[in-house]
Amino acid sequence: MRRRIEQDSGVKAYDIYGLSEIIGPGVASECTAQAGLHIFEDHFYPEIIDPQTCQVLPDGQEGELVLTTLSKWAMPMIRYRTRDITNIINEPCPCGRTIRRIKRINRRSDDMFIIRGVNVFPSQIEEALLSVEGTLPHYQIILTREKGLDMMEIQVEVTAQVFSDQIRALENLQAKLNSAVEHTLGIRAKIKLVEPHSIQRSEGKAKRLIDNRKL
Ligand SMILES: [Zn+2]
Repeated sequence: MRRRIEQDSGVKAYDIYGLSEIIGPGVASECTAQAGLHIFEDHFYPEIIDPQTCQVLPDGQEGELVLTTLSKWAMPMIRYRTRDITNIINEPCPCGRTIRRIKRINRRSDDMFIIRGVNVFPSQIEEALLSVEGTLPHYQIILTREKGLDMMEIQVEVTAQVFSDQIRALENLQAKLNSAVEHTLGIRAKIKLVEPHSIQRSEGKAKRLIDNRKL
């Protein structure tokens, strides 16, 4: 998505991180190196924990970001669990800033789901889909249960050009996506190609998963 924004608009796009419980955007931000987001450690104290055991992990290890506000008045947050999965990069940055960086966040500890005994993050599905030419970064995962078996349907938007192509081209793309997803997850999913803009857009964080399984 970033590549598309940069290409189509001609501006360089920077990732900025925040959450409304802390301050909104402005907790961490990329610099011109675009190699992780500097976290403003003079205002926020970051820790990375194992989401299961809550144990604090050393820099470099991946886990859940926990934030403590250092300068906030009236509603300070102490060791607030963000549910965002990242790791702290404690290496010098080419830009010269000495505050540490966090890796770009692309998944949350609470959006993992289990299907047929396999742990799946929507971000894994996203990577598989975007590895195939002609798809857009808009998709939705729908889980259902049929006769006791978990089924996964992935609806993915394709470019207008692809959608106007012949049936054969669409079938081709569908087969490519099927094998990309199966290769990444080790399980099969039903791929449904949909028109551009047919999946509902959300403001802020996208809702990727609809779980209709009755457990
Ligand atoms: Zn930097």
